[in-house]
Amino acid sequence: MQILHPFAGSVQQYHQQLDDPERHRPDHCPQCQAQQPLMAHGFYRRTLTGAAFDGTIRVRRYLCRLCRRTVSLLPEFALPYLRFSVLTIGLFLVARLLRGQTLAAALPPSAPYQRGQFWVRRFGAQAAALCAALTALLQPAAAPNFVHRALTMLETAGWIRAHRFLFGHLRGHLLGWPPGLAPDGRRAALSPAAAPA
Ligand SMILES: [Zn+2]
Repeated sequence: MQILHPFAGSVQQYHQQLDDPERHRPDHCPQCQAQQPLMAHGFYRRTLTGAAFDGTIRVRRYLCRLCRRTVSLLPEFALPYLRFSVLTIGLFLVARLLRGQTLAAALPPSAPYQRGQFWVRRFGAQAAALCAALTALLQPAAAPNFVHRALTMLETAGWIRAHRFLFGHLRGHLLGWPPGLAPDGRRAALSPAAAPA
C-alpha cells in the first residue's frame, strides 16, 4: 500500500530527510489496523520527472509484522505509477484541455506524444468523479463540461492539495487507477532474518 509521506518541499529537501526511519514512521498499520509501529523495510526506487528534477528518487517502505504487508511513503509531488510529477501533469492538462494549446505545445519537453494522449484519455474518464470528490474541498465551478469543471476546481484548490485529499483520504488517483492495480497493498514475503523466531 502506498500512503502519502507527510512532507511538503522540494525533491532535494525530501532526500535530505529520508535517511532517518524514525522521522515519519507510521505508528499503526493502515491496512490491518494493528496498533504498533511499523518496521523500517528499506526503500524502493522510482523515476520522477518534474520542472526542476529528472531522475530516480527513493521511497521509504515499512512492514507490518502482523499482516506482513508493506506500506510505502510516497512524496506528495509524485503520483502512484506515473513518472511525471503532479504539477507537471497538471500544467499539461490545463494547457491542453482548458487553454486549448496543441499537444506538442502543452507537453513537457521530455514527454512523448503518446504520453500526452494517455493523460488526456485518463483524465477525461475520471473528470466527473473528480468533480464530485472535490466538492468536499470547494464549490463546483461553472463550466461547460466535466473536464473544464474538474480542471478549474483543481486550479482553484491547488493540485498538490487536491492530490493530498484525494489520495490521502479517498484512495483516489488524479488520473484514475490503472486497470488491474488496486489502490491497496499487496502481501510481501517476510525475509527469513526478519521473521519471528
Ligand atoms: Zn498490518
